Amino acid sequence: MSTSCTRIPRPWHWRGTLSAALLALFYALPWLRWEGRQALLLDINARRFDLFGWTLWPSDAGVLIGLLAVLAVGLALLTHLAGRIWCGHACPQTLWRRAFDGIARSAARMLPAPAVRPATQLAWGLLSVWTGVTFVGLFSPIAELVTAAPHAGWSRWETFWVLFYAAATWGNAGFLREQVCRSLCPFARMQPLLTDPHTPRMLYDARRGEPRGPRPSGLGGVLGRGRGLLDPTTAQDYVFRAAHPLLAGPMPTFSADRLGDCIDCAACVSACPMQLDIRQGPQADCLACGACLEACGACLEACAQQQHRAGFGPGLVRYCSPQAMAGQSKRLWRPRTLALLSLLLALLACGAWRLL
Ligand code: SF4
Ligand code: SF4
Repeated sequence: MSTSCTRIPRPWHWRGTLSAALLALFYALPWLRWEGRQALLLDINARRFDLFGWTLWPSDAGVLIGLLAVLAVGLALLTHLAGRIWCGHACPQTLWRRAFDGIARSAARMLPAPAVRPATQLAWGLLSVWTGVTFVGLFSPIAELVTAAPHAGWSRWETFWVLFYAAATWGNAGFLREQVCRSLCPFARMQPLLTDPHTPRMLYDARRGEPRGPRPSGLGGVLGRGRGLLDPTTAQDYVFRAAHPLLAGPMPTFSADRLGDCIDCAACVSACPMQLDIRQGPQADCLACGACLEACGACLEACAQQQHRAGFGPGLVRYCSPQAMAGQSKRLWRPRTLALLSLLLALLACGAWRLL
């Protein structure tokens, strides 16, 4: 590891931008035009689906089912190979929760304290209603929907679905929040089936970080000052003791030179939208959103710059497979990789045969 303070890996800086871009794409989608028609319109009444110039009729139901199957298997393969990057970066629940958090933070920054809560709720409500209109605009021509709104010209079904999706957006992103991922989402329940020890996930390097704790100014990182990494058993013992003080008893007091690189600032815990402590080990509820990685990297970078500590670079929390964290070699082709890839290729071959 470098002894200088290197930067946090770039992709994690782009989380906010990626979320904003995906939300902008969703809101723009029903307004896109293709050969004079709405480019994406799933018109159930007319029994006609327009997908960017490609029209599906009721007789094409098999194609639609095949398309959905390809997307589902593609998502399973992506999760198997790259971890929960869908959950952390593209899932609607993550996108709208991040948008709602951004609104709440902006209101807190710009408005006097008594106005923050009503203004936040108003902005959440408006965004939710516009989300409902946009979603219904994928099934009913959006231009007509928006034109009819001021005259209360929506059909009963349009009104119901706009209000339903507005309520769902507000309820999921503003009220239920992490409970949706923790308790309601079926995809989260399928993760153990899709992942294995070679699948990347957010991990805390306990061998480098433990034992955790505040330290005197100027103490370098474990590699810079020669303490080195702990053996895995000792590191896990410290992790267990820190996580279960009632069960394991209090942690011993360590001299400064025995401390690991975790300064126990809890920035990673405060940043976590799922209220997890990544230092307790891999957790089923972790979305791989990278907030803890970014918070920890920023914290260690600040430490290194302020106190000139050698060997205090980022990487204490990192996104890698448990195999890689243990220093074992990577295996790309595993039984589940082959099964999912074969299924995806078979579906694509069927689709090509059906369409050509
Ligand atoms: S522990 Fe929390 S902050 Fe870190 S990646 Fe998982 S969900 Fe995100
Ligand atoms: S942010 Fe990093 S240094 Fe701070 S408590 Fe979390 S793991 Fe330790």
